[in-house]
Amino acid sequence: MHTVKLKKGKDKAAFQLHPWVFSGAVDRILGAPADGDLVQVINQAGDFVAYGYVNRQSRVAVRLVEWHADQLPDEQWWRQKIQRAVTARRHLLQAADTNTFRLIFGEADYLPGLIADRYADFISLQVHAAGVDRMKPVIIDELCHLLNPKGVYERSDTGARTHEGLPLTNGLLHGDRPPAWVTVEEHGIRYGVNIAEGQKSGFYCDQRDNRLITAAYAKDKRMLDCFCYSGGFTLNALANGAREVISVDSSALALEALERNVTRNGFGGSGHQAVQADVNKQLRAFADAGERFDLIILDPPKYAPSRSTLDKASRAYKDLNRRGLLLLESGGLLATFSCSAAMDIGTFKQVLAWAALDAGKEIQFIHQFSQPEDHPVRASFPEGEYLKGLLCRVV
Ligand code: SAH
Repeated sequence: MHTVKLKKGKDKAAFQLHPWVFSGAVDRILGAPADGDLVQVINQAGDFVAYGYVNRQSRVAVRLVEWHADQLPDEQWWRQKIQRAVTARRHLLQAADTNTFRLIFGEADYLPGLIADRYADFISLQVHAAGVDRMKPVIIDELCHLLNPKGVYERSDTGARTHEGLPLTNGLLHGDRPPAWVTVEEHGIRYGVNIAEGQKSGFYCDQRDNRLITAAYAKDKRMLDCFCYSGGFTLNALANGAREVISVDSSALALEALERNVTRNGFGGSGHQAVQADVNKQLRAFADAGERFDLIILDPPKYAPSRSTLDKASRAYKDLNRRGLLLLESGGLLATFSCSAAMDIGTFKQVLAWAALDAGKEIQFIHQFSQPEDHPVRASFPEGEYLKGLLCRVV
């Protein structure tokens, strides 16, 4: 096995179980490993630090996976890690009314660069690292052994792979090709998921708990669901007796999925309306028309892809939330989210305070949203905490 030697003083994060060794921390690569090879990482003193997978084309030169020198990451090791991740979701697997959730969440499950999502009888995989790419046959075999899916489909066609020097792929890996719309259930609500072409790997299962929490406030309310995608917040609100829901998204494919989901769950003609528009423009148009809502959801895409873009992103979040708040009267609720890892909850509260001030509204935070248990945050990898939100009440 080849060896990667760290620069002096650059072993601290790795010893604290952080899984990323940045290229700037590498002193020397001993030997000539191919990208994706298993390597051992040592410090300047020559002490063993961890095993990991090297990729010279990535900013993350080594993704660390195992800190015990006597536990070589071989095929059995991979099978055990996959088993552990799946077993930790046992009660989700047994849930009577939910059959879509994340089975493997990369670094948080000690499998950096690997995401697996369950969609009823199908599994969708995303591979973001060269080392994981090589292990695909074992990963597929173990997931099939544990879960016996009808098919395993790969959605490794996101930008993250380009940064790793890996080609983009989208295709069937095992079993049957999923139908154009796979029907899944979450909290007893049915959704059609387009596994091959949908955003992310097809459905935003990370908002599962937050949809339920928000819907509890929706009864008899007039709700506006901004960035609605396939209607997670909309459908939970309609199921909980919302009087009227308007859902806004810029994507025609998302709204097509949403309309099908509304019909599929029997909510057609029950005070629901879908609008294809840019949310910022639509919020302005609603303000100009004097429209008011009781409950507004703002679940935008990631505005801050990195720390360096946080200032600019904060202004965009501020403007968005200000526009939302302007459409609420006293007692109105705003459920607002950020899926930017660079934006922590403290900063997000400041952004909301700033938005409220600009909107001339006084707000209270009545609930903090986070990511669900199938998206755990590993203590040694705080970067894995990306989804946060605030339920705000206009005073
Ligand atoms: N709330 C959704 C997930 C939102 S994902 C759910 O519960 O499933 C973000 C969504 O924002 C995507 O559907 C994307 O199409 C949409 N989007 C991105 N930019 C937009 C814009 N400027 N205006 C309207 N929609 C936008």
